[in-house]
Amino acid sequence: MLTDPLSLFKASLEGNDSGTAILCINTEIKSYEVLIKNSKFSRLESEFDLPSFLKNKITNDDFTTEMIYKTDGKILETSFGFFDYKDTSETKKYAKFFVRDITIKQKQEEEIAWRLRFELGVASSIQILIQKPSIRESLPQALYQLLYFTEMDSIFFLKNINMENPYRFQIWVNERKSTEFPLLNKKFESIHWKEEGLNRWIHKLQKGKIIYLKKERALQKEKWYFEETKAETILFIPVKFEDKFLGIMGFQKFVPNFIIQHENLLIYQTVSRWMGLFVQRDSDLTELNRYKSSLESLILERTLDLSRTKDELERAYKAKTEFLAHVSHELRTPLNSIIGFSKLIQLPEGDETGKEYLEYIYSGGTRLLKMINEILNLMKLESGQINLQLSEFKPEEICRQSLELIQPQALAKGMEIRFFPPIQSKTIVSDSGKIQQILLNLLSNAIKYGDHSYVEFHCEWNETEVTFSVRDFGPGIAEEDQKRIFHSFTRLNDDGKIEGTGLGLSISQGLAEKLGGKIGLISQSGEGSTFTLKIPENNK
Ligand code: ADP
Repeated sequence: MLTDPLSLFKASLEGNDSGTAILCINTEIKSYEVLIKNSKFSRLESEFDLPSFLKNKITNDDFTTEMIYKTDGKILETSFGFFDYKDTSETKKYAKFFVRDITIKQKQEEEIAWRLRFELGVASSIQILIQKPSIRESLPQALYQLLYFTEMDSIFFLKNINMENPYRFQIWVNERKSTEFPLLNKKFESIHWKEEGLNRWIHKLQKGKIIYLKKERALQKEKWYFEETKAETILFIPVKFEDKFLGIMGFQKFVPNFIIQHENLLIYQTVSRWMGLFVQRDSDLTELNRYKSSLESLILERTLDLSRTKDELERAYKAKTEFLAHVSHELRTPLNSIIGFSKLIQLPEGDETGKEYLEYIYSGGTRLLKMINEILNLMKLESGQINLQLSEFKPEEICRQSLELIQPQALAKGMEIRFFPPIQSKTIVSDSGKIQQILLNLLSNAIKYGDHSYVEFHCEWNETEVTFSVRDFGPGIAEEDQKRIFHSFTRLNDDGKIEGTGLGLSISQGLAEKLGGKIGLISQSGEGSTFTLKIPENNK
C-alpha cells in the first residue's frame, strides 16, 4: 500500500515540542500554503496574526529567526528550516515553520542574567573592601557599587557606636542610585529607636534577623518611618560579627508594589556577613594602632627615664672615682711615713712584744699601701688617665726583671719559677713598665694560688705578637668563674687566708687593652691555670 509521504510527515511532527507546519512558498506571487501542521501549531497560530506575519516574511525574503513579544507578556519564537521536496524550484520552496512559546525560558534567562549582574556587584564591592586599608573610605564606595547592581534605589549603613542598649548609630554610608531618591535624614543618628516605635525592628535586627517590610504592612506605630523617608519597601539587614551587633545595612525602594526575590535576600545577607568581617577588622586595627601608639609613647618615656638615670649614674660614678682618687692620694703620704718610721724605730734588746707590734705596723701599713696603690691604679684606668711610655726593648728583658722582683715572694712560699725564654730575640715597642706590672700580678697570683713546688713562665713569639704565659698547678678556675675574676673586687673562695683585693686582674686586663693586647685564661677546676698576656710587636 502506498502511503502519502505528507501524512507520514504529519505523524512525525506530532512528537515535536514546538508548533510545526510544513509550508509551500511561492516566491513569485508571494503566497504560501500550509500543507500540514501539528496540533501544537494549531493552538499557537491563533495567538498572533499568522497570515500577515508570513506575508511579511515572504515579501522581504527574510526567513531569519524572529521573536514576537505579545502585549500579554507572552514571547513566541519563530524559525524556518527549508528542505527539498518533489517539485522544489526557483519559485517554489518548501519549509518547516516552527513556532515556540519561550515565555518561561526567556524569563529564566533574564533572571539568570540579572543574578549574574548582582553577583558581579557583590564581588566588585567586596574587592573594594579588601583592597582599601580604611573601611571609612572604602565602605561608601563599595556599597554604592553594590547598590548600582541591585534592584534597590538607595542604601545606607548605620554603624552601631553604642554597643549596649539603647543603641546609637552613626551614618557611615548614605547613597542612592539617582538624585530623585531621598537620602536618609541625619536625625536617624540620634533617635531613640525603641521609644520611636521601632522596637520590633531593633529587637529583630539585634537577634540577627532581617526586616523586609512594605509600607502597607507596617504597624501603625512604624508608619511614620515610611512617611518620613518616602520609602515604599525597606530591607534592613543586621551586620554582625560573632555575637556583636555592629550596625544596620539598609536598602530602600521608593516605588510601590515591589518584591524582592527570596534568592536575592540570601545574597544581601551574604554581603552583610562580609561587611561584619570588614567592620570588625577595622575596629581591631584601630584598637591595635591605639595600643601601638600608647606603647610607643611609653617606650619613649622609659627611654627618657633611662637616659636620665644613666646621666645620674655617670655623674655619681665620676664623683666616686674622684673621691677615691683624692682619698687614696691623701692616705698614701701619711702611710709612707708610718712604714718608713716603723723601720727606723730602734727598740731595746729584749722588748720582744714591742718588736712584734712594730712588725704588725710595718706589714699592715705595707698591705694598706698596696691596696691604695691598686685602687688608685684602677681609678686612673677607669677615668682614662693612664699615659703610655713607649720604648723599644726585648720582651725577655722584662721577664727577667719581673722574675727578680717576684723572687722573694716565691722563696717565701718555697716555690721555684721555671722560665722559658723565646727562641727568637726580637724587640717590641711598648710600655715596659705596664707589661711588668701585669706580669708581676700574674706571677704573684700563680705563687699565691698555686700549690705545687714550681710555676712555669713562658715567653714566645707568634709572628708579630709576643705571648707571655704563666702556668700554675693550683686548684684551677671553674669555667663559670673565668669571666668573673676579671671584674674588680671579685675574689673566689675568699676565706681571708690568701691576701688580696680582687683588683689585680681587672687592672691587668685594663692595662693590656691599653697596650693593644689581651689577657687570656685556660683553666679547669683542679688542673691549674694558665694566664696568657698577648702584646703586639708595635703599639699602635
Ligand atoms: P687578688 O688576687 O688580689 O684577689 P685578682 O684580681 O688578681 O685579685 O684575682 C681575682 C681572683 O681570681 C682571686 O681572688 C682568685 O680567687 C682568682 N685567681 C686569680 N689567679 C688565680 C690562679 N692562678 N689560680 C686560681 N685562682 C686565681
